[in-house]
Amino acid sequence: MSDQTGIGTGGQPGVVIIGAGTAGVTAATTLRNSGYEGALTLLSAESGLPYRRTALSKDLMAADLSVERISLQKPDFWDAKQIDVRASVRAMAVDPDARTVTLDDGTTLDYRALLLATGGSPLRPAWLDAAVPTLRTRDDALGIRDAIAASGGLVVIGGGLIGLELAASAAAHGHRATVLEAADRVAGRVVPAVVSDFLAGIHRERGVDIHTGACAESATGGEVACVDGSRHAGTVVAALGMAPDLALASSAGAETVAEGIVVDGSLATSVAGIYAAGDAAALPDLRTGQPVKGEHWFGATDQGKAAAQSILAGLDGREAPRFTEVPRAWTMQYGVNVQMVGWPSADGDVRVDGEVTAGDATVTTHVGGDLVGAVTIGRAAAARELRTQIAAGLGSSV
Ligand SMILES: Cc1cc2nc3c(=O)[nH]c(=O)nc-3n(C[C@H](O)[C@H](O)[C@H](O)COP(=O)(O)OP(=O)(O)OC[C@H]3O[C@@H](n4cnc5c(N)ncnc54)[C@H](O)[C@@H]3O)c2cc1C
Repeated sequence: MSDQTGIGTGGQPGVVIIGAGTAGVTAATTLRNSGYEGALTLLSAESGLPYRRTALSKDLMAADLSVERISLQKPDFWDAKQIDVRASVRAMAVDPDARTVTLDDGTTLDYRALLLATGGSPLRPAWLDAAVPTLRTRDDALGIRDAIAASGGLVVIGGGLIGLELAASAAAHGHRATVLEAADRVAGRVVPAVVSDFLAGIHRERGVDIHTGACAESATGGEVACVDGSRHAGTVVAALGMAPDLALASSAGAETVAEGIVVDGSLATSVAGIYAAGDAAALPDLRTGQPVKGEHWFGATDQGKAAAQSILAGLDGREAPRFTEVPRAWTMQYGVNVQMVGWPSADGDVRVDGEVTAGDATVTTHVGGDLVGAVTIGRAAAARELRTQIAAGLGSSV
């Protein structure tokens, strides 16, 4: 175990991971499972033990959102693995020359390798009143749940996956729900039009009021005004996307872009000894090579694993492996499981196998004849094979 300075019992500084979401937790677990025996510190700005963020929107109105039910690991896991989890501790700055992290209590931690797994924060456009909540943490979820229960209705600004899951959760528990989406279809960034239509359809069947082309121009905690003059009353929640957390990377002098902390194909940042993974990181896209934003659970998990292997390689002076995992994500609405692999919203030829409206279909996207992305509806098992096919087409392995 490390002491308060982040130095292990062997007297050597160890690995410090900032952020205890899935990227940070997976990296810590992988390090231990791969035989790393040095000091390992996991810092979390949130209170309590690490939990599954994805449950927050799906189980929003469920009675039990307790940390025990949605935790990522059992409480005794951390001691058993000798991972020093420090909750309610925020890292404030990184000094890459001294290899130290300054914490919000003024103390510093030494590190040999540092992983930035700091995730991101919900986007808040200037027109959004400060009273409008966003959903990122368990505390956010508990506040939103109480507000919906009190008002009896939800108005979500943003018809992406999180906005739709929130609406599904509210509607399934008998509350009025309205979704306002500025684009001409819901979830347009992540799925082809035929899947957007399916998702809008299953909401409308349950009485959710879905408005596309609905551009919000102002919002308070109880009402949204749209550019077309319409007004929508209820508990307002903004689900407009996520901005990666770049502050620590910048304090360390690491290169950043709007999409995240720039990392190479082995998750190393531009600063020696510092790695980044998950929503905070911008990896080279496997198709274009351009830095691309994270935003999905499995991507963050896969990157956490890969970052741990790169850190181990770095500590041993070996060449780090290259990250070749094809993107994957999922959503669950009204019990319908939708899996997305590769680049299903790419501009290409969309083919459908099965009955989309029946919730039993595979929708594939092809560019130049090559399979680049797929969405399975109610066919989760098929997604794995499709991902393998997409990887084979890229010349990478999954
Ligand atoms: C409500 C919701 C539902 C979602 N549902 C899905 C889904 O169904 N499918 C899917 O694929 N994806 C989903 N996602 C996205 C997915 O949850 C994220 O991609 C994933 O959680 C990213 O993991 P991460 O470890 O990179 O970051 P995070 O989970 O954001 O963890 C980062 C942690 O770092 C901490 N931190 C930040 N700065 C500091 C600091 N300076 N010091 C200490 N700690 C710090 C933060 O407080 C946070 O706890 C959902 C996201 C949300 C918000």
